[in-house]
Amino acid sequence: MSVVALIEFDPASGAATGHRLADADAALLRVTDLGATRGDGVFETASLVHGHVQALEAHLERLVQSARMLELPQPDPAVWRAAVLAVGDALTAEGVDEGSIKFVLTRGVEGGSVPTGWVFGTAAPDFTADRTSGVRLVLLDRGFRHDVSQTSPWLLAGAKTLSYAMNRAALREAARRGADDVLFVSSDGYLLEGPTSTLVLRTGPRLITPRVDLGILAGTTQADLFAWAEAAGFPTGYELLTPADLAAADAAWLVSSVRHVAPVRAVEGVERAIDAELTERFNEALDARTA
Ligand code: PLP
Repeated sequence: MSVVALIEFDPASGAATGHRLADADAALLRVTDLGATRGDGVFETASLVHGHVQALEAHLERLVQSARMLELPQPDPAVWRAAVLAVGDALTAEGVDEGSIKFVLTRGVEGGSVPTGWVFGTAAPDFTADRTSGVRLVLLDRGFRHDVSQTSPWLLAGAKTLSYAMNRAALREAARRGADDVLFVSSDGYLLEGPTSTLVLRTGPRLITPRVDLGILAGTTQADLFAWAEAAGFPTGYELLTPADLAAADAAWLVSSVRHVAPVRAVEGVERAIDAELTERFNEALDARTA
């Protein structure tokens, strides 16, 4: 069960004017679309749980921020919000209780001046095993220093672009090494993020995550988790972290919109304890979000 909404643009000004639902099985994209031919665009993936699109405002803000970094026409949050909510409602009406909603903005067809935008919603994969048994990580060098976003902004570190081929290649490398997921490390040795997730560590009562000025995405799930954690009495912080901090942490998780919270059960083949009780509390708190 999938649902698509196309964003409509005014051909003269390129401004978004609204959306219309479209047939998810129809051909909807031109072969010269720069999103397809060059990965020249940005996207977001939000989760739909029990009828609610979660962290929608944070996803819209990040879409705007990524578009700004790529110098794309600024997406109008009102138009995108309405399209995402329409897709969420249609999925919910079809009985989808846990879904994923991906929204994409590209530079449009080559030679044109109008962007392309769409929203695609579908049922979420079953992540129960990742959420309960956990994931085995390998640490992979991303090849950029931790200050890449200051030294080389054209590398677009920290923008959620459509160019995810490297992220997929890293996951295949993890599989070759007998692991499930990846934690990228900067070339000068700092922990960054997963190809589709944010790292969270617990040291005593404190939850910490890598600083977002390291050219990584500001995770919407991690932000909601930290808001919940602060209210529940866990101090939180953003830090420069190294593999030694990961090894010394009491618990570690990868967190992201659709999978939510997956405990880390091994790093580089070394098994580590998972905090099953806290993982369950985290996932329950995230599931209970209504916005
Ligand atoms: N980092 C990267 C590179 C990602 O692709 C994602 C999500 O896909 C995240 C972090 C986690 O972000 P969020 O919690 O907003 O899904």
